[in-house]
Amino acid sequence: MTTTQTTPATTAMTAAPMTGTQASLYQQLRAHLAALKLHDAAQHLPEVLATAQAEQLSMTATLERLLAVEVDATQARRLAGRLRFACLPTPATLADFDYDAAPAVNKKLIEELATCRYLDTATNILLIGPPGVGKTHLAVGLGRAAAEAGYRTYFTTAADLAARCHRAAIEGRWATTMRFFAGPTLLVIDELGYLPLPGEAASALFQVVSQRYLKTSIVLTTNRGVASWGEVLGDTTVAAAMLDRLLHRSVVLNLDGDSYRLRDHHARADTLRQATTGTRRPLQ
Ligand code: ADP
Ligand code: MG
Repeated sequence: MTTTQTTPATTAMTAAPMTGTQASLYQQLRAHLAALKLHDAAQHLPEVLATAQAEQLSMTATLERLLAVEVDATQARRLAGRLRFACLPTPATLADFDYDAAPAVNKKLIEELATCRYLDTATNILLIGPPGVGKTHLAVGLGRAAAEAGYRTYFTTAADLAARCHRAAIEGRWATTMRFFAGPTLLVIDELGYLPLPGEAASALFQVVSQRYLKTSIVLTTNRGVASWGEVLGDTTVAAAMLDRLLHRSVVLNLDGDSYRLRDHHARADTLRQATTGTRRPLQ
C-alpha cells in the first residue's frame, strides 16, 4: 500500500537542512506512521524531530515524545466519545459543587465517590432531597468523573427511561433496549418521583435495576423519600423489590435544606426584611 505525504520533508527540521537520505527516511517514517494510523504522531513528527535536535534528546526520549503525542490524542478522542455518549445535560462538575451552600453534604464522602472506586463494587448511589438542593448537579458531576476515569457512563431521567422502554416495547426492541441500559458501567437515573411511573414504566425501571444488580452501578436522584416509592411506582411490591436491589450495596445521601435556586432569592428577601423589620428570619 502506498501512502501520500503532504508535508514536505524540509519542514521537519528547520535547524539543519536534511540530506537526501535523511529526507527519504523521514518520508518513510511518516508513511509508516500513516500506515499504522498514528495520524497525530505523523502530523507532529516535524516538531518532535525539531525539539529532539534542539534539546539533543536521546532516541528513546524522542520516540517516547512522539508516541506520547499519539497516546494523548487517542485518550482525548476517547474521552470526547465517552462524554458524547454520556449525554450529560449540564457542564456541572464535582469540583464546582459549593459545600458551604450544602451543609448536609459530606465533602469527604463526595471526594471518595469522585475516585470512582464505588464502581468496582457495583455500589449504587441514591441522592434524596427536595428540588433545587444539588441532586442533579452531583449526579452529573459523578457521571462526568466516571467518564473522565474511562468508564462508560449514560445519563437519563426516570421519565425518559420509561418512555424509551415504552417505545421499545411497541416497536419490538425491548431486548435491545434492556441490553442498552445494562451496558454502561454507570447509569445515572435522574428525577425519580417527579412524575408517577406506574404499570409498565415501573416494571421497565425495575427490570433495568434488576439486570444491573451487583454488576454495575446506578446513581439515582429522587425528591421522594423511599417510604413513598410505592406511590411513585404504583405498586408497593415492585417498589420494595427495587429498593432491596438498589440499597443492598449503596451509599445514600440525604440532601435536605434550602434550595440553591431559592438561595439568592432568600438572601435578597432577608436583606429586605432586615431593612424593613429588623429581623433576619422569615416571617411565620
Ligand atoms: P436538584 O436536582 O436537587 O433539583 P440541581 O442540582 O438542579 O437541584 O440544582 C439547581 C441549580 O443550583 C443547578 O444549577 C446547580 O448547579 C446549582 N446548585 C445546587 N446546589 C449547588 C451547590 N451546593 N453548589 C453549586 N451549585 C449548586
Ligand atoms: Mg434535579
